[in-house]
Amino acid sequence: MAFPFDPTFGVLVNLLKASIEDNEHEGRGLLARVARVLPLVCRECALLARDDPSFGFLMAYCAYTYQTGTRERYCDGLPSSVDPMRLAQAITGAPVRQLVHMSDLLEARRLKAKAIDKDANSSAWPEAEMQTIPSNLPRKVKAFALFIAGWHAELVANPRYVHHFKGCQRKGCARPAMVPINDQFSAWNPSRDATLAEAAYWQMCVTGSTTGLDQRAPINMAFCSRGCYCAVEREYASAIDLLVHLSKWKDGAGSTKRLRSDAAKTTSSRLYRAALARNVSLARTKRMKAYEHRQTQHYPLTLEDGRAMQQAFVDALNIDLGVLHAAAVVCELPARLRSKVVLPDAEMWRTEHYLYTNAVRKVRAIYKSAPSHGGIAKGDESWLGKVKTMCMHIFD
Ligand SMILES: [Zn+2]
Repeated sequence: MAFPFDPTFGVLVNLLKASIEDNEHEGRGLLARVARVLPLVCRECALLARDDPSFGFLMAYCAYTYQTGTRERYCDGLPSSVDPMRLAQAITGAPVRQLVHMSDLLEARRLKAKAIDKDANSSAWPEAEMQTIPSNLPRKVKAFALFIAGWHAELVANPRYVHHFKGCQRKGCARPAMVPINDQFSAWNPSRDATLAEAAYWQMCVTGSTTGLDQRAPINMAFCSRGCYCAVEREYASAIDLLVHLSKWKDGAGSTKRLRSDAAKTTSSRLYRAALARNVSLARTKRMKAYEHRQTQHYPLTLEDGRAMQQAFVDALNIDLGVLHAAAVVCELPARLRSKVVLPDAEMWRTEHYLYTNAVRKVRAIYKSAPSHGGIAKGDESWLGKVKTMCMHIFD
């Protein structure tokens, strides 16, 4: 028998509200934690929380007074029902506020929540009557909501607002997102260096350059909160980013073992044969058939975008094969002819992409000038013949 959470959940929420109203700190942390966690683990509580407009504001207040969760993006710590833009719309004639760094802005919000919470005289806080703030909230929670609303209204009044804010890019979310500036984010984790270096290599295959941002990658998109970013990132990695799946074919599924067991003898020719096996294997998979538009739940994607992204993936695979083809041909030449050339001869060569910037650029130029490409290259394409002819110049 399911435990009936109605009215238990409501009683819990009311206890939390009374604790804030009465300035009672003992046990409030536990109440706040249970109120936050229950909707995550219990469907009935999630529905009850969703149907109570005051719940999100209460959780926002607790998140900032207790500092729960990450603070990286503009709406972090604010549940999805608390939308600063919607709150700000009720305010007219706000003065202009200067834009500050995200970390300073979030810190100011935390300090304000702490100051409100510390004030023993609850009634000192104005009884904020705003349509967008539920009336059945403690004064302190209303004061915090007013602070968020007022701050956002002042940012909107700044003429540079449109340059620094845009709507969250997660499908169905309209909360404001501060445009990411790389140094504001901790997502660039040093332990991912090798992955990032390899990603830079594949980006070079697609665009011919390692500079510039891939605007379609979630890491470079604008999201209101970490929750929205994670939802999009998960979907992108599992359904959109085909390059992620390359790890399954790392230098060819069939030959990986052989390469590992005989690492000392890894040569450009072997790497080329492995890449060829990878291309043939990928060409057979269902994933690489003509792009069929699958409805994404979070990632914003049109049919055209989906097709263009798949084509970029195919181009990258082909250019990669072209570089290795040239290397394999040079590798077979007499030593005196190839003595000055550094060829890819290790499994991790793509993480040393800076050695091969020119090679990728030259192969890409040959590939792009070919009249037709015919999907994933399998070794007998005419443009690969041209790469072979030019092989001595590829690794100049
Ligand atoms: Zn969002």
